[in-house]
Amino acid sequence: MTHFADRIASLGTENAFSVGADIARVAARGVDVVKLNIGEPDFDSAAHINEAAIAEIRRGNSHYCDPQGTLGLRQAISDHLERSRGLHVSTDRIVVTTGGKPGIGFTIQAYANPGDEVIYPSPGFPIYESWITYAGAKPVPLHLREESGFTFTPDDLAALITPKTRVIFLCSPSNPTGGVLSREELTGIARVIREKAPSDVRVYSDEIYEHCIFDGAQHHRIAVEPGMEERTIISSGHSKGFAMTGWRLGFVVLPTAAEAAIFKQLTINTVSCVPPFIQEAGRVALTSDDSAPEIARMVAAFQERRDWIVPTLNAMPGVRCQNPKGAFYVFPNVAGLCEQLGIIEAYDALPAERRARTAPSAMLQMFLLYSYGVATMDRNSFGKIGAEGQHFLRLSIATSLNRLKEGVSRIQSASTDRAGFVRFMNEEKLYS
Ligand code: PLP
Repeated sequence: MTHFADRIASLGTENAFSVGADIARVAARGVDVVKLNIGEPDFDSAAHINEAAIAEIRRGNSHYCDPQGTLGLRQAISDHLERSRGLHVSTDRIVVTTGGKPGIGFTIQAYANPGDEVIYPSPGFPIYESWITYAGAKPVPLHLREESGFTFTPDDLAALITPKTRVIFLCSPSNPTGGVLSREELTGIARVIREKAPSDVRVYSDEIYEHCIFDGAQHHRIAVEPGMEERTIISSGHSKGFAMTGWRLGFVVLPTAAEAAIFKQLTINTVSCVPPFIQEAGRVALTSDDSAPEIARMVAAFQERRDWIVPTLNAMPGVRCQNPKGAFYVFPNVAGLCEQLGIIEAYDALPAERRARTAPSAMLQMFLLYSYGVATMDRNSFGKIGAEGQHFLRLSIATSLNRLKEGVSRIQSASTDRAGFVRFMNEEKLYS
């Protein structure tokens, strides 16, 4: 890659998108692939939201607009923060973005110099690690504990904070684990941050799944803890809760208007603004009485699927699955499955240079896709650093119960097919 800048080699990706090439290859063979890989609701955006955008386009609201976001949407976001969190946020602290993702890169660019340390959950959304390494900052993974529902203790976090820490990423509900931080946990985390981190360290609270909480539980947020609003960047958006992934609409709330101005400037330097008709539809999504029943219907469907899939996976030899409390993923431990299929042995037998580019759960992921037509995500897709020896898959439950049942039944068939795995290794030649 000699004609590219050096930093390009440090840029990661989101494999949920990049596995598309493998899926296309398998589908081209005539296989009806069950896609449990991608993280988006299988519901369409609601009619009242769609109609709002169409009306705006017809009205001619299709020009450049305020790069910080339209005042109407920023006011609706401010009202939402007041209703949901009791926070009083002035509109000059809010920046509208093209989805939940840009806030991650903007934060790293705005606060982390090369060599600075950034703490992030692992397993976690892969774009955190990608941006940290790309910017030359030092990635400091905060490992989530399977045995406690993929959470961490305040002491786990305290051990990672140093004078070089600049940003701490939190994500609740979590992608990929579905773990949700409780009020008590957040209180402990906030205490540690106040005690150990200087006040200019920023906490990036990724709340993109704030609407997707199961069992009627409440979503708790770090920004409401004493002394935390002035350190926290709240990030959320419309993709998951309002089933608007393709609209590309999200927002960040900064501690000060001066910081929001930097994020606005980053927007000017990249996309100029979020399309105004999309922002208007986003405003309607946040303010219309028609939205809450749509969200409730969708979350009830996710919960019904969770209630089916978790016991089904736990009944499968070699699989152990925690019960997610939110988002729309399950993240089973498949160490036993890798063992019984001979994947660990096959991995150990690979040349070192091949081993460095894969992992047992990635080999399981490819076996399931190429030999059984079911697309999943492997552990390393959610942060590679320090993930050696961890064997998990992420399955998205944002697909109909029938398709989910078909996908899990294929995994069940694959789980005892040791000979099939040997055939896969010989025939597909992905690792030679
Ligand atoms: N943050 C987390 C934790 C996510 O899982 C995702 C998407 O999967 C995003 C941010 C990005 O969301 P968006 O599609 O709105 O950019």
